Amino acid sequence: MYIKAEVTIRCDCMLESYRKEIYACARCGDCRESVKVESANKGVYHVCPIKDQLGFDSYSARGKLTVLRAILEGKDVDEDVADLFYNCLECASCKEVCISQLGEGIDVPAIVEAFRCVLVEKEYIRPQHKPLIASIKNYDNPWQMPRYMKAEWASSFNLPEKGEILFFAGCSSSLLTPDLAQSVIRIFETLNVPLAYLGKDETCCGSLLLRIGAVPEFEKVKKKNIDLFKESKAKTIVTTCAGCYKTLKNDYNLPNCGITVLHVTEFLDDYRKNHGLSLNPFPKKVTYHDPCHLGRHTGVYIQPRNLIKAIPGIDFEEMARTKEYARCCGSGAGIKTYNPQLAVQMAKERLEEANGRLIISTCPYCEANLRDAGAEVQDLAQVYANLLQPGSTSETASQYLELFMDYLQHHIDIFSEIKNGGILLYEIENQFFTVEQTKKGTEIKKGEHDKPDLLIRIIPRGVEQLVSCKNKEEYLKMYKYLYKETHELDFEVKTNMFTMARKGYVSWAKKAGLLSI
Ligand code: SF4
Ligand code: SF4
Repeated sequence: MYIKAEVTIRCDCMLESYRKEIYACARCGDCRESVKVESANKGVYHVCPIKDQLGFDSYSARGKLTVLRAILEGKDVDEDVADLFYNCLECASCKEVCISQLGEGIDVPAIVEAFRCVLVEKEYIRPQHKPLIASIKNYDNPWQMPRYMKAEWASSFNLPEKGEILFFAGCSSSLLTPDLAQSVIRIFETLNVPLAYLGKDETCCGSLLLRIGAVPEFEKVKKKNIDLFKESKAKTIVTTCAGCYKTLKNDYNLPNCGITVLHVTEFLDDYRKNHGLSLNPFPKKVTYHDPCHLGRHTGVYIQPRNLIKAIPGIDFEEMARTKEYARCCGSGAGIKTYNPQLAVQMAKERLEEANGRLIISTCPYCEANLRDAGAEVQDLAQVYANLLQPGSTSETASQYLELFMDYLQHHIDIFSEIKNGGILLYEIENQFFTVEQTKKGTEIKKGEHDKPDLLIRIIPRGVEQLVSCKNKEEYLKMYKYLYKETHELDFEVKTNMFTMARKGYVSWAKKAGLLSI
């Protein structure tokens, strides 16, 4: 039993609770080389960054689960076992491809975390991690920096400590990348949205403690934070670090206190949809790195991409491994401290997929490791703080709406295949117009329709490209390109396929090259 600071945790019970899941492993090996990854991205089928670097099967999820079975059956824990389990990123790449547990996948990150608690209890904690735990205890941050420095980045802002929206800056943004924390404040100031900040009282979220198995210390930090959040009267907490986000969202149970946790990209994308955002152009070739804590662990894939694609002039291309199959940057779950060289090796491998493009990401921790591997990397919040125009309103979306309606009005032949009664609803950043085929001809009107055949969503950059087409032939080619290649246009069929065929949509889709039947 592990007793620290008013908190008692039965670590062996925590591992025992995963017994069934550990024995559910069929040893199929999908967590080493996966058909799922291969079919998502041809030529890429490797799953575990650690196994790929260190070679032995024991480093893969299958290997780790096999060792855990032996431990549950009485095998002793030793230094080699501890080293094996501290060489895991808890990246969840293996869980994503595993089809055990009715397709849910064996939760290897959770199992590794539970077992690390046993390792800490048995005093197999890594010596490299001890100063981090002591630092959180003494200074409320893992980076061994005095408490007063935590809020230095905010000295030029006048932020209240209480308010409905609370910014949780986190230790890495506050102390290692203060420009990132400042960027978030600049964004909120530009949007004229009040933001509170706890200042030097803000303590570590405890992510690192939980990931390395120091669970009683984590519980103590969590309690302190929840008390602070309640005092602040916050209804929403905004974070900029993917690690803080995952911890506050998944490990704190804040909805019980009436608090919603948002990553800054979720807040911004929501704001963009409801009000529109005015942005200066950013004519750069960029790609996006999904942090594991924002992607696989919490499912925030779309919002950062929406925000990137909404930037005028940007040239965005996905990396080979993306979204749920994205490769970890190599720094998570204590690896950056335990095995820094290995962390950089893994980041170098990820870096190759950027093909020389600027990497945009949403986690200061990933960004630091990618930078250590030689990457040019920027946080999306920093990009937005520099591009956002004051007085951003829904004007942008409404301008694009007018522009697109006007273009279609002058190119009505685009709808020549659609028969009488056909209704298409267009959405640009939550603003709508309808194209309806009537006996009188094609009618284009602002506003929504409750029974469209097709809902077409398009971002302003996609509108720009469509309205630059000279004729129907060019328009159809561009439509296909935006749908299939850049994903700046998407559509939802709102009726059955028989009606779609009867109303002429199938002929239209064939002409656009979207159907080959
Ligand atoms: S962890 Fe899942 S994917 Fe890996 S060997 Fe076991 S069952 Fe197969
Ligand atoms: S969580 Fe990541 S590093 Fe750990 S075993 Fe699974 S794939 Fe490998």
